Amino acid sequence: IAKDYFKYYELNHFSNFQEIGFGGFGKVYRANWKSSPNYLALKSFFNFNNVTIKEIVKELKIQREVDFHENIIRFCGIATENQVDNSKKYWLVMEYANGGTLREYLKEHFDNLTWNNKFNMAFQLACAILCLHDEGIIHRDLHSKNVLVHQNIVKLADFGLSKRIEESSNLSSTKLFGVIPYIDPKSFSNQDYKLNKKSDIYSIGVLLWEISSSNPPFYTEGKPYDVCLAINISQGLRETPIPDTPEDYVNIYTGKYN
Ligand code: ATP
Repeated sequence: IAKDYFKYYELNHFSNFQEIGFGGFGKVYRANWKSSPNYLALKSFFNFNNVTIKEIVKELKIQREVDFHENIIRFCGIATENQVDNSKKYWLVMEYANGGTLREYLKEHFDNLTWNNKFNMAFQLACAILCLHDEGIIHRDLHSKNVLVHQNIVKLADFGLSKRIEESSNLSSTKLFGVIPYIDPKSFSNQDYKLNKKSDIYSIGVLLWEISSSNPPFYTEGKPYDVCLAINISQGLRETPIPDTPEDYVNIYTGKYN
């Protein structure tokens, strides 16, 4: 791992650990570093093997390139923890978002959001994705659990599936990644379809619908999204606009302004 890409922390310089989530790589905690009153988020990596190291390096490099954009979770570095058997355990250190995921935020605050707030969130998502695309990165896995909120500011997180555009141009989507309602429908119907900037923009459109609703798209409580839904989406099924949504807002997520 090139040293330039990150700052080293020692895990024992962190205190006040509190578990805030659980993902594909393990638990996520918030904690204070040394005497700083601000929290940082720490993502642990269990099963630390070569594959995991590669994943980490990929995530670090990608995150580092888009550092310091207000609408993108800032990557701070790596913390090491010495284990009793003298091995090391590694943690990814990131900016902490106190409002949780966009999904959780909408659940909690939806009734207090004005249309101005919703337009503003849509604008912030657009700024974040523009920044990624300007850096030659497509996210590939945008959904409301990969978008975090900090003091009402929307921040894109989790670049686990991000690829540089030039790399992805050689990748077809024969392997289906992501959460069905947010995936570019073209990749359901065409195995050779290459995910591209427009695929991210499709997902942002779905997120905009979600911001205008109080529920995730095609959500049925307790039921996972199924293949039938993917087929129906590929054949043109879309969520209908929520009544009373301003026409301008609908026009943005349905692509009328393109
Ligand atoms: P995967 O890494 O496999 O895509 P994931 O996106 O569900 O999985 P993580 O990125 O590990 O999982 O995050 C798990 C949960 O931890 C998130 O859903 C969120 O609630 C919380 N979380 C992650 N990062 C932060 C952060 N920087 N600030 C606040 N909460 C976070």
